[in-house]
Amino acid sequence: MRIGIYPGSFDPVTLGHLDIIIRSARLVDQLIIGVLKNSSKSPLFTVEERVEFLKQVTLDIPNVTIESYHGLLVDFAQEKNANIIVRGLRAITDFEYELQLAQTNHKLNPNVDTMFLTTNVEYAYLSSSTVREIANYGGKIEQFVPSCIVQSVYDKYNKIRSV
Ligand code: ADP
Repeated sequence: MRIGIYPGSFDPVTLGHLDIIIRSARLVDQLIIGVLKNSSKSPLFTVEERVEFLKQVTLDIPNVTIESYHGLLVDFAQEKNANIIVRGLRAITDFEYELQLAQTNHKLNPNVDTMFLTTNVEYAYLSSSTVREIANYGGKIEQFVPSCIVQSVYDKYNKIRSV
């Protein structure tokens, strides 16, 4: 049984993430999306919110489950009996960081390999931070994130502004 983990911050999930989820779910028997809890960045959305968004957008993909994790990714992978880590590569700028991460994870646990999917060109420029920036200034994000979470992103900024 091939169990893969797709880890990330997903703050919030974008159409670029969703594309990687759909494509990698076809390559493994079970795909666990691991939402990082103790990111050094201070996230816009709580881990519970990020998990909930991912649950909504993957409702119709039967072999995908969502979980949060903290600590080392290789430990989470081991706990889940996963030996594949899925990562998306957008541009050459992602490569150096991702290579270092993949090699470190492999050193920490030689049973775990990282599988890279190159981004769909349509989403090559897209990141969660771009989405946050646009939404913060009231711009349109409909073409960047799954439709079911658009309003939640705007609501979050409205809530921040009202305190
Ligand atoms: P992290 O904080 O770990 O980089 P992200 O949530 O930003 O988490 O991204 C998780 C994974 O999704 C990473 O492998 C990243 O390269 C990939 N990714 C992010 N945006 C896109 C995109 N637009 N297309 C393809 N992959 C993407």
